[in-house]
Amino acid sequence: MKKAEELSKKLCYQRKNFWREASVNEKKLSFKFSEGYKAFLDKCKTEREAIEFYADILENKGFAEIDKAGKSAKVYRLARKKNAAIAVLGKKTVSEGVNIIVSHIDAPRVDLKQNPLFEDGDTKLGMMRTHYYGGVKKYPWMSTPLALHGVFVKENGEIVKVSIGEDEKDPVFVMPDLLPHLARKEQYSKKLGEAVSAGKMNLIFNSIPYLEDKDAKEAVKLNALILLNEKYNIIEENFLSAELELVPAGKARDAGIDRSLVLGYGQDDRICAYTSAEAIFAAKPNKAAVVYLADKEEIGSEGNTGARSIFIIDFIADLLKHNGESYDSATLRKTLLKSQVLSADVNAGINPNFPGVHEKDNAVHIGFGVSVTKFTGRGGKSGSNDANAEFNAKITGIFNKEKVNWQIGALGKVDEGGGGTIAKFMAEYGAEVIDCGPGVLGMHSLYELTSKADIYSCYKAYKAFFEKA
Ligand code: MN
Ligand code: MN
Repeated sequence: MKKAEELSKKLCYQRKNFWREASVNEKKLSFKFSEGYKAFLDKCKTEREAIEFYADILENKGFAEIDKAGKSAKVYRLARKKNAAIAVLGKKTVSEGVNIIVSHIDAPRVDLKQNPLFEDGDTKLGMMRTHYYGGVKKYPWMSTPLALHGVFVKENGEIVKVSIGEDEKDPVFVMPDLLPHLARKEQYSKKLGEAVSAGKMNLIFNSIPYLEDKDAKEAVKLNALILLNEKYNIIEENFLSAELELVPAGKARDAGIDRSLVLGYGQDDRICAYTSAEAIFAAKPNKAAVVYLADKEEIGSEGNTGARSIFIIDFIADLLKHNGESYDSATLRKTLLKSQVLSADVNAGINPNFPGVHEKDNAVHIGFGVSVTKFTGRGGKSGSNDANAEFNAKITGIFNKEKVNWQIGALGKVDEGGGGTIAKFMAEYGAEVIDCGPGVLGMHSLYELTSKADIYSCYKAYKAFFEKA
C-alpha cells in the first residue's frame, strides 16, 4: 500500500491547489496583487479606457514612445487609442527573437446603435436602440443597472468622453425585462437563446417631455437631445460618429466569505492584460519582451485594432530599428520565426453547477493556478493553433523551475462547443505560440468570477516567461 502511494506520487499528474501549496507570504501577495487588479478593472470598462490607463502610467514607469525614445530600453506605442505594445529590451538582440504576451482588452458588451434615440409612441418613453458586441447571452443584460461609456467624435476631431453610471451619484440605465406573470407565451415557450431577441434590447433613456411648447412633436426625445446638448454640446447626428458602450455599472468586488475570489465585469481578458503588463514592469527580460494589448478579439480579431492587423509586426520592425539592428523584411521574418508567444486569454474553469460540459481531468480547476492550453478550437481541433509539444515542454519546464502554480487546461468536452483565441493569428508569423491564462467561472457573463490564486499565478507565469524563455 505504501509503495503504491509512493509510486503514484512519483508517476501520476496531479493539479496542485494554490491555497494548500503556497507559502503564507505567497498567499498574502496574491491578495495584495488582486487589490491593484480590481482597481484596474474599475478604471477600465472599455478598450479605450484600458489604453488610456496605460497611456497615463507608462512614462512614469520609465517607458518612452518608441519614435522618440533615444536609447531607452523601455518603449511603447499606442495605436488608434484602442491597442498598444509595450516593450523592454533584453540581454539578447531583438533579432534573436522576441518574447511576446498578447491579450485582448475588449470584452462582450452592448453598444448603442449609430442612430439610437427614439420616442416610443405608446409609452412616451425616450429609448435607445442597441447592438450587442461579442458572444453574449442576451437575457442577463435585461433589468440590470448599466453604465454608458464611450466617445463622441466631432467633425473637427474633437473627442467628447462619456462615462455615466459609475459614480454613486450618477444615474444608471436599464433595458427592462418582461415580468414572469406575462412571460408565458412571449418567453417561457421559447428556447433560452430566443427568449430575449436583440430587438427587445432597447434602453430606457428618459421620460420627461420638453414642456416649453405644448405642441412639440416627440417631446420626450427632444428633451433627451436638449439634455445631451447641454451636457456634451452634441447634436443627434453626432451619434453617427460615436462609440458608446453599455457595461454593467459598479465596481469589481471580493467574492466568498474568505475573500479568495474576484467578481467583476470584463475579466476576459483584462485579467491577462493587467497581469502581463505588471509582469513586464517587474521583469528583467532575457530576450526582448513585448506586451501586446489587442482590441476586437471578441469579434474575431478583425479590424485595424485587432490582432490580425499588421500593428504588432510593424512594432517589432521598429523595435529592431530602435535597437540599432537591421530591420529589412528578411530580418523581420527571421525574428518572428524565432519569437515565442504566450496567447494570454482566459479559459473556462469547471463550474460546479454545470460540471457536465467539462471533462474534469483536462479542464481548468479554479484556484489550481494558471492554465497551459495546447489547443482550443471546436470539433476536431478545428480553428486551433495547437502548440508544438516541444514548446509546451519548454514553457511548463520554466514554470516548474520557477515554482509557478500551473495546470493543464482544455476548454470543454470534445464536441460540447468550443472557442478560439488570438493564438492562431500570432502563429501565422511562424512564432511558437501557446495559450496560457487563468480559469474563469461564468465567462462572458456580466460578472465573471476568478480566483486570487490564479490571478497571482498568472502574473508569476508571465514574469517567468519574460525572464527565462
Ligand atoms: Mn478572451
Ligand atoms: Mn471572450
